[in-house]
Amino acid sequence: AHFASRIESLDTQTNSFITQTLDTAKQHAKTADALRADGDTRPLLGVPMAHKDNLCTQGVLSTCGSKMLHNFVSPYDATVVKNVADAGFISLGKLNMDEFAMGSDNEKSHYGAVHNPWDLSRVPGGSSGGSAAAVAAGFVPVATGSDTGGSIRQPASFCGVTGIKPTYGRVSRYGMIAYASSLDQAGAFGKSALDCAYLLQPMSGHDNKDSTSIAKDVPNWVDEILTARTNDKPLQGLRIGVPSEYFGAGLNDEVATTVKSALKHYEELGATLVDIHLTHPEITLATYYLLAPAEASSNLSRFDGVRFGYRCENPKDLHDLYTRSRSEGFGAEVQRRIIMGTYALSAGYFDAYYVKAQKVRRLIAQDFAKAFESCDVIATPTAPTTAYKIGASLTPAEIYMGDVYTIGVNLAGLPAISHPIGFDKQGLPVGLQLIGNHWQEGKLLSVTDAYQ
Ligand code: GLN
Repeated sequence: AHFASRIESLDTQTNSFITQTLDTAKQHAKTADALRADGDTRPLLGVPMAHKDNLCTQGVLSTCGSKMLHNFVSPYDATVVKNVADAGFISLGKLNMDEFAMGSDNEKSHYGAVHNPWDLSRVPGGSSGGSAAAVAAGFVPVATGSDTGGSIRQPASFCGVTGIKPTYGRVSRYGMIAYASSLDQAGAFGKSALDCAYLLQPMSGHDNKDSTSIAKDVPNWVDEILTARTNDKPLQGLRIGVPSEYFGAGLNDEVATTVKSALKHYEELGATLVDIHLTHPEITLATYYLLAPAEASSNLSRFDGVRFGYRCENPKDLHDLYTRSRSEGFGAEVQRRIIMGTYALSAGYFDAYYVKAQKVRRLIAQDFAKAFESCDVIATPTAPTTAYKIGASLTPAEIYMGDVYTIGVNLAGLPAISHPIGFDKQGLPVGLQLIGNHWQEGKLLSVTDAYQ
């Protein structure tokens, strides 16, 4: 009831929900109370949360932030949605996002911009902007998000919350509406690493319905954090790699200063800083903006006006139905990505662009692997700036630049977390990104917890 009344009275200002399911949630809360009284001991029974709107929910709209899916109700739950409900969580609704998870500011949603709770005239980041804003505003203690190139970490940074993107394959993608399948991974937002662990734990694990999910035991991250807390020097001996390439031109001065003082704090906690080298982030950025749209152009071909969602009025013939449904149903950014991706995949350009980018992707992953020979985690700024104004009219290329520090992680399939480390002079949150080697979510969570 506490969270529901905050949402009812305050989300008119933030617009973090696309669909609220507060009435159903209240019934579920009553059921949870009854189960608890009957001896149900699930620790998370009755805890409120909310899902990003690209996770399919049976019987509840899943719009993916698009007009194309304005009326789409999935006949089944995504595995993540099912897992989280089985753990006892109660969903309060579906959270706003950039259309089809393409964007970094949440201004690309068909359902309106999300306003950053720290300063309502500013963006919350994206594409999981609704998730980050809802946690920052205290509408839910935890929320799901998805991260293809930073969509959990960058909004976590802009909204002063913690957000973790797990290793590719840790969380099932079944029922998560695909953007770029080889990069997409769902993860968790919370105020702290411990809160993230509570949600990420049930989300994770092998799923027969997703051939890219990996059959690997999921450690008990909550226990790992709590055990680390009994150690009074938990970071003693931890080697934190700092890549000089991630502190160059384009990084805002105040963000750089805040990140440097956070690194100093890590040293005080017992960690050692190590110089490392990674692929230059601008090369990584170019690789991502070739591969992600290529995969998107293929994934989004299923939205043809016939099988799902939006259909144009009075089509002349089948071709007109396809063309107008897609032109009217998709927003400008999504159309831009489809065109870029189709171009990169077209005969004649495929080898020069797509195949080349795949080779660079391999080199980027190798550079990370090499870096992890001399450090345990890597620290970088999460984003080059803090939250900018809604309507700042940045060009697409300027917005893409905001993803320079986050996308390498997705290309290499690594886990990474963003946690708040302070504020700039305008009082806007700054985040630090920690990147781990494959399957090292536990380390990222407990290192973050030691800082927090
Ligand atoms: N901002 C990036 C993009 O627009 C990343 C989005 C994401 O991680 N879903 O592609």
